[in-house]
Amino acid sequence: YAPLAEIDPEVKNIIDKETWRQFTGLELIASENLTSVATMEANGSILTNKYSEGLPAARYYGGNEYIDELEVLCRKRALQAFNLDPAKWGVNVQPYSGSTANFAALTALIQPQDRLMGLGLPDGGHLTHGYYTAKKKMTASSMYFQSFPYSITPDTNLIDYPGLAAQAKIYRPKLIICGASAYPRDWEYATLKKTAQDVGAFLMADIAHTSGLVAAGTLNNPFDHCDVVTTTTHKTLRGPRAGLIFFRLDHPEAKDLEKRVNDAVFPACQGGPHNNTIAAIATALLQVSQPSFKVYAKQVIANARTLGEELVKHGYKLQTNGTDNHLVLWDLRPLGLTGSKVEKVCDLMGITINKNAVSGDASAQVPGGIRLGTSAITSRNMLEEDVKVVAGFLHRAVQLSLLLQKEAGSKMLKDFVRVATTQAEGKEGFAQV
Ligand code: PLP
Repeated sequence: YAPLAEIDPEVKNIIDKETWRQFTGLELIASENLTSVATMEANGSILTNKYSEGLPAARYYGGNEYIDELEVLCRKRALQAFNLDPAKWGVNVQPYSGSTANFAALTALIQPQDRLMGLGLPDGGHLTHGYYTAKKKMTASSMYFQSFPYSITPDTNLIDYPGLAAQAKIYRPKLIICGASAYPRDWEYATLKKTAQDVGAFLMADIAHTSGLVAAGTLNNPFDHCDVVTTTTHKTLRGPRAGLIFFRLDHPEAKDLEKRVNDAVFPACQGGPHNNTIAAIATALLQVSQPSFKVYAKQVIANARTLGEELVKHGYKLQTNGTDNHLVLWDLRPLGLTGSKVEKVCDLMGITINKNAVSGDASAQVPGGIRLGTSAITSRNMLEEDVKVVAGFLHRAVQLSLLLQKEAGSKMLKDFVRVATTQAEGKEGFAQV
């Protein structure tokens, strides 16, 4: 019963430092959020002790009466959160993460070496949507399936729907995946459904990034058109780190989707569910269903729009010239700066962002942009006026990055690195630079 500080002061100290970092910094990573204390309490609970391979009322271990109750409750809340009819949709709440949810969904929907199409990674897609490079197939989704990426239109940077339809007619995929990690616009699910139907493919939406906004009804609804919908639970949904797979129970040609998805999660891809996480998902979903979450989701979008508008006012270029959702893709190439440089400078300023490829980047290793998201700062109750201040900080970070680039090798830069490094160690103030 001894507390962590007594048993393991080293780990406690690291947690304390990270807590301080999260509390004192500005979190602008689009895939992150700040989950509630209640959700964290459920996540850190005694439920971590229990094994429960299988499904409610069909487990491989005894002692699961409360775990069954929990998983049934979590499923019910997941369907409620997305306003889904339990007669038409089912959900598996066991995936450990978005990546495992996606691989399980692929396993359920298609056979090894079948063809799939997902948005290319350099255009904003995710690794698990079939990504590979000319040199290597480094993701399971490209190793075990044949994959052909679709893309965005070069001039608008919007999804090339006609191009995808034409390519799908030639490539004849068994599965089309929509959804992305770095795409600031909404998706045309009805158009995608037609494309998938025309070639006899399943349509799967991975709404990992936008699921909170979808649940709040602030974006187009993928459930109206897709056969399977996957999501992480820790981004705009504001839950613990995990994944969900929703599947149609009334699919005209695949009545067995429920069994296929459940079998794909366990035993095909995973072992025992993480019951502490399932409890935390349930708590987060309860919060998603409350009216205050709709207010939150609307504010996330309003904040992202304001952030984009302010950066444009400062003279910067955004991919797609704006945003429909929680993220802003900032193209730094007109300034001759790389995303990595700005990311490092922001780190030193206590602003957390990530470098990101922007369309047409010559190298994914040295991306020419950064991705910003407003989910976490909105969880800290920031409004448009606050976001304008944040945009001002980012402007200063970019100006500083430009100056440092210009002064590379100079005494000024050496001084900067010295002061910034000692500041990072907590010995000196950043204001001295
Ligand atoms: N799908 C999308 C669209 C994502 O952006 C991500 C992660 O960023 C994932 C899946 C994978 O989620 P996880 O990191 O939980 O495996």
